[in-house]
Amino acid sequence: MLSSSGGHPPNPPRVRDLSALPKAHLHLHFTGSMRPTTVLELADKYGVRLPESLTDALTSGEPPRLRATDERGWFRFQRLYDAARSCVREPEDIQRLVREAAEEDLRDGSGWLEIQVDPTSYAPRLGGLIPALEIILDAVDTARRDTGIGMRVLVAANRMKHPLDARTLARLAVRYADRGIVGFGLSNDERRGMARDFDRAFAIAREGGLLSAPHGGELTGPASVRDCLDDLEADRIGHGVRAAEDPRLLQRLADRQVTCEVCPASNVALGVYDKPEDVPLRTLFDAGVPLALGADDPLLFGSRLTAQYELARHHHAFTDGELAELARQSVRASTAPASVKSDLLSGVDTWLTTPA
Ligand SMILES: [Zn+2]
Repeated sequence: MLSSSGGHPPNPPRVRDLSALPKAHLHLHFTGSMRPTTVLELADKYGVRLPESLTDALTSGEPPRLRATDERGWFRFQRLYDAARSCVREPEDIQRLVREAAEEDLRDGSGWLEIQVDPTSYAPRLGGLIPALEIILDAVDTARRDTGIGMRVLVAANRMKHPLDARTLARLAVRYADRGIVGFGLSNDERRGMARDFDRAFAIAREGGLLSAPHGGELTGPASVRDCLDDLEADRIGHGVRAAEDPRLLQRLADRQVTCEVCPASNVALGVYDKPEDVPLRTLFDAGVPLALGADDPLLFGSRLTAQYELARHHHAFTDGELAELARQSVRASTAPASVKSDLLSGVDTWLTTPA
């Protein structure tokens, strides 16, 4: 507030730059990672007419109003997502998408990015499932080399499809594990089907050495998180934020150190919580559940990785010490090699001990 006695206004308090805090990014979807300008340019390149609500959102930077807590809202979200995906048609578009995702992550202080993709959705335009996956993995290799970021891939099955499709994907993911695939996920509408329908696919992935990281506990409550633990032996939960509604489940996640990949901006954009301060970050953190903040689909939700940490600082009063701990938790839950982890963790310590 300006002083009425004519003195200088106080300088704003100096705060540490959260984009300089080393961290790992474990929840980012392939299509949803795109820069808005890239989607608009690609739409132009291919003459794709995007839905007006999407172009409005992309040009204004304001996320579209979605209420995905009901099926109609989720359907609208999927329509926008499909429209964005339809602009990615050639291998060079995939290369660009992956390189830009890596660049954006580096800008946000991420030293390790695990990007999630269902290659099935790109297969028709890229000559089939295997060529699509190979093009994606090649693009990740190139981005890794060109930008220096650590980057790996999670293959995600779609729970709207048949469990046999998920098994096919799991086998494929295992076959390409030495090409940079580290985990297996399950995405799309959590209200469709049961986690246990996909237990065989996850067993194939786990037996092949892949991490189990299904979505649960965002659009549906704590029971869906329990299903991920019981039926899919989840090592990490995509979201899991609604575990906060069940103290015994929180205890279980904390005891087993199962990390929840919490994406606060996504939760608010999809209407799971009304306001950023309603996301139960504190409840989860204080219960000892490891968290890895993620951006989920920055294209549609309007904010990237650092913004999730900003949200914890501004809406939940996380101190720099606590924010550093969040970053450490993201690194520990990643599949990064020990040397990468220890470099990132010592970077976190340096960030914290350097005065703002
Ligand atoms: Zn997600």
